[in-house]
Amino acid sequence: MISINHISRIYENGASKTYALRDINFEIEPNKVTIILGPSGSGKSTTLNILGGMDRPTSGEVFYNQRLISNDSDSALTAYRRKIVGFVFQFYNLVSNLTVRENIAIAAKLNGNRLLQVDELIKKVGLEHRQNNFPDQLSGGEMQRVAIARALAKEPALLLCDEPTGALDSQTSQKIFQLLKSARNKKTAVVIVTHDAEIAPIGDRIVHIKDGKVSKIINNPHPLEVS
Ligand code: ADP
Ligand code: ADP
Repeated sequence: MISINHISRIYENGASKTYALRDINFEIEPNKVTIILGPSGSGKSTTLNILGGMDRPTSGEVFYNQRLISNDSDSALTAYRRKIVGFVFQFYNLVSNLTVRENIAIAAKLNGNRLLQVDELIKKVGLEHRQNNFPDQLSGGEMQRVAIARALAKEPALLLCDEPTGALDSQTSQKIFQLLKSARNKKTAVVIVTHDAEIAPIGDRIVHIKDGKVSKIINNPHPLEVS
């Protein structure tokens, strides 16, 4: 679905240059969870921004379904982002004066999905009992469930998750990872950026990055199930 071919990203600030990514290659496939694992400063966010169409590589190519997107115009990249990509962040980004149900319904409506789907989404993330609560009445794990439901309202081909459990305890994190894993299907690839090596075995593919380079790629035919 996505091929990353020899991409590099150099940030230039006046006379100083930062080589955030150096000649990275990997593939993202539907029906798989790809984990991008690396320490702080290794280039994970830069990779995610390029995958999400928020940034372009300095050199190299990104293909989406065989189409070169890394040279697209801003408006074409925005269209790609709106149509193809769902985002889940570390800090949820919920609308605080809307209920759980309303947060999800707005996303479903913006994405042109029928309203019935809201119930399916709420059920999928296990928040039936919380649907009329406001974000400040929820636990961190519950807030992340809302954010995931909202991202899934788009039925995105690519679900990009940036440290989705960075603010959660380890047991809650495992549940959230399991939920994200259940979002992968024939049409949807899930990509999770994390520095948490402990959770990496839940992925179908683990891309290790270090100092802006891919140090290894592990294909994991028997991903860990957590409960
Ligand atoms: P990670 O997400 O793994 O923490 P990043 O992709 O944010 O890593 O950063 C990779 C490298 O690029 C780091 O050295 C970081 O300081 C640098 N970097 C990131 N964004 C910028 C920017 N806008 N300008 C300059 N350097 C940046
Ligand atoms: P809008 O349709 O409001 O103009 P944007 O084009 O800014 O939206 O964003 C499209 C999608 O990209 C949205 O789903 C948004 O959540 C996501 N997005 C925008 N900016 C960022 C960012 N800096 N990092 C991650 N995701 C972003």
